Amino acid sequence: MTLWQELGLPDDMLNFNAKLCDLQQQLKQEAPRAKPIISLKKAQALMKEEKPLLAEGFEVDKEVFTRFFNAFLELLYEMRPQISGELDKISKQVGASLWENLLKGISNNETDLNDIIAETGVNRDILRFIIKNALSPFIHSAAENLNKYIDHDKWGKRFCPVCGENAGFAYLEAKTGKRHLVCVRCSTRWPFQRLVCPNCGSNERQRYFSLPNQSSYQVHVCDQCKLYLKTLVMEHIQEDRDFFRHDLETFALDLLARKEGYLQASHLA
Ligand SMILES: [Zn+2]
Ligand SMILES: [Zn+2]
Repeated sequence: MTLWQELGLPDDMLNFNAKLCDLQQQLKQEAPRAKPIISLKKAQALMKEEKPLLAEGFEVDKEVFTRFFNAFLELLYEMRPQISGELDKISKQVGASLWENLLKGISNNETDLNDIIAETGVNRDILRFIIKNALSPFIHSAAENLNKYIDHDKWGKRFCPVCGENAGFAYLEAKTGKRHLVCVRCSTRWPFQRLVCPNCGSNERQRYFSLPNQSSYQVHVCDQCKLYLKTLVMEHIQEDRDFFRHDLETFALDLLARKEGYLQASHLA
């Protein structure tokens, strides 16, 4: 029995997340291999300043991006027919102007959808969902390239050395107890002290809870700053690095943590 079924969560959500993960996985294979956009020297300078490497932007092929955008739009048409009116609006109205603004935003690292939304009246959350997913394969490709510039053992911050996102997930090596933080956005992972809160640095009032019969999935919480961090205890370290899937599959833990009054790192920035 999965965590979902155990908590009585709707199968529909489970199906949706599974399809979303499969599409992500498929498009990751199809994304063009990104060339490094910065030199090793520049990367070292950024690391010294504690700045994420993708702060310089990353390459996005307009045609491939459009195809990915449409693939996620199709997924929503299939899985969420009740919002097809909103999807029609996006499909009809968001065209060339989106790509121009968006791609300009990416190269300056400030994607701003306000103009597009004001111009077209499309639903912000749905548009953001599609864009976030359509960009993901590009971010992964760029991150794969930049990871070789990073000394992961020395990083030690709560945010991702590649894309700057706060760690959204963690895993513990069952044998050694070593903890690694994971960026769900680009799948970069790096070691982090086990008994210290990544958000506030406190080593007091750290505890965790898990669900009955699901002890490998834990929620670590800090009662000092109210952060929670979903943590997977791994007997064997898996190399598939599909933490996007782990994150979605453990959505039940997010619900529990939020109910207890804790917040995710990405909301604490
Ligand atoms: Zn990242
Ligand atoms: Zn804390």
